Amino acid sequence: MEQIKKGALWVFCEVQSGELLPVGMQLLGRAKTLAAESNRPLYAIVLGKIPEGAVKTLGAAGADEVICSDSPALADKLEQPYADSLIDLAQKFEPDILLVGATPFGRAFAPRVAAALGTGLTADCTELSIEAESGLLLQTRPAFGGNMMATIKTATHRPQMATVRPGVLPLPEPVETPLSEPIAIPYNNEAGLVRLLRETAISKGADISQSKIIVAAGRGIGQKKNLKLVQALADKLGGEVGASRPLVDMGFCPYSSQIGQTGYSVAPDLLICCGISGAVQHLAGIGGAKTVIAINTDPKAPIFSVADYKIVGDCVTVLENLLKLLG
Ligand SMILES: Cc1cc2nc3c(=O)[nH]c(=O)nc-3n(C[C@H](O)[C@H](O)[C@H](O)COP(=O)(O)OP(=O)(O)OC[C@H]3O[C@@H](n4cnc5c(N)ncnc54)[C@H](O)[C@@H]3O)c2cc1C
Repeated sequence: MEQIKKGALWVFCEVQSGELLPVGMQLLGRAKTLAAESNRPLYAIVLGKIPEGAVKTLGAAGADEVICSDSPALADKLEQPYADSLIDLAQKFEPDILLVGATPFGRAFAPRVAAALGTGLTADCTELSIEAESGLLLQTRPAFGGNMMATIKTATHRPQMATVRPGVLPLPEPVETPLSEPIAIPYNNEAGLVRLLRETAISKGADISQSKIIVAAGRGIGQKKNLKLVQALADKLGGEVGASRPLVDMGFCPYSSQIGQTGYSVAPDLLICCGISGAVQHLAGIGGAKTVIAINTDPKAPIFSVADYKIVGDCVTVLENLLKLLG
């Protein structure tokens, strides 16, 4: 336990169905730079049963140590006992910075931790950096409906807490790591008032934030029936269908496909945008895409400013022709 230093940078690494979620490694990748710049040790925190091989994976993503805490109360993944465990760890070892992935669980769990520790929490950051003179964490996120970016500092309370959505930060290149065992901290917390009776998947669709290829439709797709072309191209390329918010609001597409500030952040190798204007709130979700192809009738559409390949034309015709070409 004495190897756990106070004032460290912690990244909560969420486990889902026995596997580490990529957002933990994405956070560690950025946190490694932040830790080096501010001379803080970097610890990955895993609560509940730690998956086999997780310590190596987290070490390869940049963690100096992996701290885990398990107890019977963590057998079911419920926010309160998980929050209680992290609060206990934070009270014992006083991290200076605590980062959490803004998954559905993270969004419900991180505010409980922040409230109990009496600190602030900046949700859905798109950028994290260190202020050179103070060593404070600079937490940047969209504000005022996405029309401006705000940079927030937690000057007087600790830990400085921020969440980042999956897919906003890239996965780091793995590095050599000597780590093989976690530092286990026992904690016998109460089971809490809530019990998990059963789990039901509410979305049968793929997790778009993990998709490597996305064909996304916007209002320019016109009628709902044209979405069949988008789906057909996604199927041909082995990808998923994404959507701008209006298509979700109109009931054309499920929320699980919404890309953007109030939807999912995506980081595919290939993103094809069909009839999407490129509003700031939409662009907020596609910063991680490696190659962007945009199809739009308006040559001045903002989406073209982030596109690697630009097709000015009717997306329905372009999709039909692409499908013909692909056979
Ligand atoms: C707080 C807040 C949060 C928001 N969150 C999100 C979010 O998470 N995700 C999101 O997407 N939006 C979000 N929005 C909405 C956002 O501001 C835009 O309104 C939305 O992204 C526009 O969607 P769109 O590009 O499909 O439609 P439009 O802006 O209407 O653009 C349609 C585009 O299609 C083009 N077009 C028209 N016909 C054709 C054709 N035949 N072929 C090719 N191109 C054609 C047009 O030139 C135009 O560029 C949010 C807004 C607010 C205020």
